[in-house]
Amino acid sequence: MKGVHSKYYTDNLRENILRGIRQKIRRGELSAKAPLGYFNEPRLRTIEPNKKTFRKVKECLEAFATGQYTLTAIQRKMFSLGLVGKTGAPVHLSSIQKILTNPFYYGDFRYRGEVHQGSHKPMISKKLFDKIQEALVVNGKPRKKRGEKGLLYKGFAICGECGYAITAERKIKKSGLVYHYYHCTFKSRTQKCSQTRFLREEELTRQVQDMVQKVSLPDEWRDAYLKKLESENVNVRHSSDLFVQNLKNDISAVSARLSRLTDAYLNEALELGEYLERKNALTAEKRTLEEKLSDFERKGNHWLELMRNWILEANQAGNLIKQENLSGMKDFLVSIGSNRRVTAGMLLAEFKMPWRDLTETGARARTFGAGEVNLSSNSELWTLADSNR
Ligand SMILES: [Zn+2]
Repeated sequence: MKGVHSKYYTDNLRENILRGIRQKIRRGELSAKAPLGYFNEPRLRTIEPNKKTFRKVKECLEAFATGQYTLTAIQRKMFSLGLVGKTGAPVHLSSIQKILTNPFYYGDFRYRGEVHQGSHKPMISKKLFDKIQEALVVNGKPRKKRGEKGLLYKGFAICGECGYAITAERKIKKSGLVYHYYHCTFKSRTQKCSQTRFLREEELTRQVQDMVQKVSLPDEWRDAYLKKLESENVNVRHSSDLFVQNLKNDISAVSARLSRLTDAYLNEALELGEYLERKNALTAEKRTLEEKLSDFERKGNHWLELMRNWILEANQAGNLIKQENLSGMKDFLVSIGSNRRVTAGMLLAEFKMPWRDLTETGARARTFGAGEVNLSSNSELWTLADSNR
């Protein structure tokens, strides 16, 4: 009997809870967990934009909508913006997929498979959301084999002379062999472009591979870099512990002054005007210190994680070459470089730091005998890491 009774009780409870949820849905609010970029406001029981992450998530959504990013490239972008999972690791790809398909970001929300109108502040327009869904068709699966109609490098580079897109063309020879050629679209109306040379896909692939090679880190370099990072880690931890401790001391000193000030006012040792003036100054000082602390706790050792990630990624690039993963190499260059252009049949690109540094040290190593791991020649790399602290 007892079992029946408690079942009746829990069913009733469940019914009450569901009724509450349905009412919330009708009002456009839902007590679900806020998605990334928002937080659950506990008093109003609403979901509000998170000041620290809202713009960053928005930036990532806008980036993915361009169609220039794969899921892993977005994952990397999120990581570099400090959008990380609970453990500080990169956000899982499946979670990113959920973010990209969540109607919450344009103002609706999904509950039990049904989409309802929300009352929260949207992050993006429905139009951008639709663009993201389109981009997901092409870039949604990790490791895609080939580009549109098998034209691998379509949309990959621009013409170095006129700045218009490089397009691809399929040609079938009399022998029946199919060739892919790349050339300027000659779309400029104001400028006559002289880049009439057609580039064979095989030749472009060779150049892409060379470029990836330049920014890849050989196994022995990876190990040396990781080792160096490990020793940096100890130093950094020590000095950042000190930094945090000093900040905390400063904050408690200001707090103590604040409470003494209040005591003085309550004991009528201070006029109200004077009290408020001093209190506001101290409160502002305290807030500055607290922000400094939370900023540091968020970013402080983050660069170490970024650096480690970069080392592994640069090493991984070598595997793309070994596996002859053409679309992987292409995506990799898109994610780490910019201004990819073809001039006189030559592919050129700009690399962000620290990749750029690697192209230079890599070239030095090739000139002065390969296989030598000379970390001192990479001191710029560690300086860069320092400046990110
Ligand atoms: Zn051109």
